Amino acid sequence: MKKDQSRIIREQAPRSATREHSVPLYLTSSFIFDSAEQGRAIFAEEEEGMVYSRYANPNTTEFINRVCTLEQAEAGLAFSSGMAAVFASFAAFIENGDHIVSSRAIFGSTHQLLTQLFPKWGISYTYVHSSNIEEWEKAIQPNTKIVFLESPSNPGLELYDLEALGKLKEKHPHIIFSIDNCFATPYLQKPLKYGFDLAIHSATKYMDGQGRVLGGVIAGKQELINKLMFFIRHTGPAMSPFNAWILSKSLETLGLRMDRHCSNALALAETLEKHPEIEQVKYPFLPSHPQYELAKKQMKAGGGIVTFDVKGGKERAFRFIDALEMIRYTSNLGDSRTIATHPATTTHAKLKEEERVSLGINPGTIRLSVGLEDQEDIIGDILQALEKSK
Ligand SMILES: *Cc1c(COP(=O)(O)O)cnc(C)c1O
Repeated sequence: MKKDQSRIIREQAPRSATREHSVPLYLTSSFIFDSAEQGRAIFAEEEEGMVYSRYANPNTTEFINRVCTLEQAEAGLAFSSGMAAVFASFAAFIENGDHIVSSRAIFGSTHQLLTQLFPKWGISYTYVHSSNIEEWEKAIQPNTKIVFLESPSNPGLELYDLEALGKLKEKHPHIIFSIDNCFATPYLQKPLKYGFDLAIHSATKYMDGQGRVLGGVIAGKQELINKLMFFIRHTGPAMSPFNAWILSKSLETLGLRMDRHCSNALALAETLEKHPEIEQVKYPFLPSHPQYELAKKQMKAGGGIVTFDVKGGKERAFRFIDALEMIRYTSNLGDSRTIATHPATTTHAKLKEEERVSLGINPGTIRLSVGLEDQEDIIGDILQALEKSK
């Protein structure tokens, strides 16, 4: 069998009668049956075949297969957005009275699901704010259905020990262990090999990598994906074939792009660490990161996000952002273009000050999604903005 990178490029939707080389865009809501008998057989699941694009489409299937190769997963499903995937990863499995254990530092909308929406349906949660595996074990209750986490976290870049969590899963085989693997991407980190059941992605970020389309994907155990399939068939958060076509093409360059995101990010982190106007820098592959050894063990490289605190708090952070010349301020990440954000007044503005600080978000914290531009230009823009904002 071919190696992963070759498979990601070469495994594509079946060639049509036109003998195209690159995969066409299948903008069709439904698929015809050759006969009444075939229609019956496909509906009865005796014969495989596409029916309707809410269930499956050649473009989404190709995208999913490529993600499964990357995640080393048995099966997968595509969604209209990352949040549709995150929501389904809970909603397809939980019942009234169930309990969820989750890491505290999670994506804002996921936090809203756990704290605002699910309690209305009788679903409770416990947040764990520690990488100590005993704390995770303590949080598990008899009615715990799902253990969920993000690693590295946003924007604090804290890690959780995936191997230790995989061992915890062995002790609790009936609990679904799921991870939002969006920040690391399956190129850098493969949680399923530690025993996780589901890996979830916002494909909007590094999988697209160019800030164009929204998408989500879940890869994992066949049995769970079957249950999720029932959920999507009847609730409708399907990915558009157009977005799947874009995202599937993007996966062909994911590895190349991630290598460049990571080398640019590491070079920037090393430069900032020595800079007198910077209070602290967080990056998993800096030896000063408290979980550097763990990062080296479970990630291939440090990722594309660098989080740092400028001296002078919020006022300085604002002056710094406004002084950037090439880098833009926008709420996305994982783009080929470098992006700066100020989490304390945007994504995490609704939290209480002490809660923010416990997540590593200070008034002077900047989250940088390091792009693919020339390293000198990225670092140059940051250095000139630090100088100008003094
Ligand atoms: C962006 C993001 C999401 C949500 O994805 P959308 O595609 O914007 O819906 C979920 N989790 C993480 C970690 C994200 O960065």
